[in-house]
Amino acid sequence: MQSETHAAIVGGSLAGLLMGRVLADHFDRVTIIERDAYPDQPIPRKGVPHSRFPHTLMIRGQQILESLFPGLRAELIDAGAIELDSLNDLAFLTPAGWAARSASNLSLLSCSRDLLDWSIRRRVATLPNVQFLTETSVRGLLTDTEHKKIIGVSLHQRNAETNTELRADLIVDASGKASHTPDWLRALGYESPPEIEVNAFVGYVARIYQPPADRSIDWKMVFMPAAPPQRHRGGAIFPIEGDRWIISLAGGDRDYPPTNEAGFLAFARTLPSPIIADMIERSTPLTPIYAYYGNENRLRQYDQCSLPTHLIVVGHAACSLNPTYGQAMTVAALEAMTVDRFFQHHAIRNLDTQTHQLQQQLAKAHQEAWSAAIGMDYRYQSTQSQSINATTRFVNWYWEQLMALSLDRASVFRTFLEVLHLIKPSIVLFRPAILVPVLVRVVMQRWQRFLLHSKSKLTTH
Ligand SMILES: Cc1cc2nc3c(=O)[nH]c(=O)nc-3n(C[C@H](O)[C@H](O)[C@H](O)COP(=O)(O)OP(=O)(O)OC[C@H]3O[C@@H](n4cnc5c(N)ncnc54)[C@H](O)[C@@H]3O)c2cc1C
Repeated sequence: MQSETHAAIVGGSLAGLLMGRVLADHFDRVTIIERDAYPDQPIPRKGVPHSRFPHTLMIRGQQILESLFPGLRAELIDAGAIELDSLNDLAFLTPAGWAARSASNLSLLSCSRDLLDWSIRRRVATLPNVQFLTETSVRGLLTDTEHKKIIGVSLHQRNAETNTELRADLIVDASGKASHTPDWLRALGYESPPEIEVNAFVGYVARIYQPPADRSIDWKMVFMPAAPPQRHRGGAIFPIEGDRWIISLAGGDRDYPPTNEAGFLAFARTLPSPIIADMIERSTPLTPIYAYYGNENRLRQYDQCSLPTHLIVVGHAACSLNPTYGQAMTVAALEAMTVDRFFQHHAIRNLDTQTHQLQQQLAKAHQEAWSAAIGMDYRYQSTQSQSINATTRFVNWYWEQLMALSLDRASVFRTFLEVLHLIKPSIVLFRPAILVPVLVRVVMQRWQRFLLHSKSKLTTH
């Protein structure tokens, strides 16, 4: 007789919940172990303090969530999430000016991270073979006698006097950036995974506001990204349910935005457009100003090391990204699809030999977002000491040209957004329809500069 199959997930935030959803299709039983007690409404909780910050779910992420939870989009809209046209309703300030806007089908949903997590959690909780163990921390990994295979986890329930054990055929670490898997592996005699850190020392602050009643604005969202190395400050206005805005400010190279009232506004006043500062002055604050400083990119390369089998690491526990690029939740969704596909083709018993293959596939799922985030962060001075390859330099240069072209060509900005939202691969930005105008623009600029230079030489002689 075949025994019941069981998957245990460490961490019940976004990555853990999505893993719970897909593993429920392949395992008889799934347990999601979460340190916190979940609130019974969409409000922040201790384990996800970053939920107070804007959380963009890229269009690719939205599509995946809708396929995993049919009707989720409608549910979020019913709960107050705002639908917006990414090309028309987003005021996006490129280093060269405001990007061109026009109507499109690039529909984005904007809501708080708390509402998103809460809605997904409620859906996962309806799955008959998924169980939540809340107020329970995982304290370590259990192995077979040879330390080759992970067979479960050791748990500590809040207020309990002793640890207990939970056996499972697959352990998924989705416990976020502060994951203890590297320590747990060392305790078992394994090396911890090679780690890459790219830190642009970005400080991020945010506050929730009631927008002014008499706002005559032609946008629903504002995004003013930093443009390092020249300008390392940025900001955003992000609409959420309940007719509220999250206004956020970010500063790289340790130029952290202040969390006091006057400093927050003064920082916003230094941005290249007054929109954000004006709206701060005209809106009513509903919360304190929150700060988040640990925004480095950190990649733990579990695909590059020898690991015990039956253990995988996902979400921020494996790959955490500078959050100002808004890609991590979509990466978590891509990873969930990767795991789903894997178990469509591989039997659970094959994890004895194929866990590493699954971890390699997970690494591919976050590769593009990782390269994009570190490539962008290499523009900051703090990262200049790291050796930047010629491709990254070229891509950053090309990105600047694209942004300049986006000022009067909505089609270019549209393609850029499609790549940003992970619905098209970045290679489409190098197709002739975009590459040719970029090159023509560069040649024209150089030619004009040459003419100006020659003219000034003539007048001085
Ligand atoms: C300031 C900020 C802004 C962000 N903005 C965006 C954005 O715009 N778009 C985007 O896509 N992403 C954004 N992100 C990333 C996003 O919030 C998530 O961090 C990401 O999706 C990864 O989630 P996760 O589930 O892996 O980890 P987390 O969300 O960090 O959750 C980890 C969970 O594990 C639990 N846990 C930890 N240790 C244990 C343990 N030992 N036992 C049991 N439970 C444990 C925690 O309580 C928590 O619930 C942002 C992040 C930050 C910090």
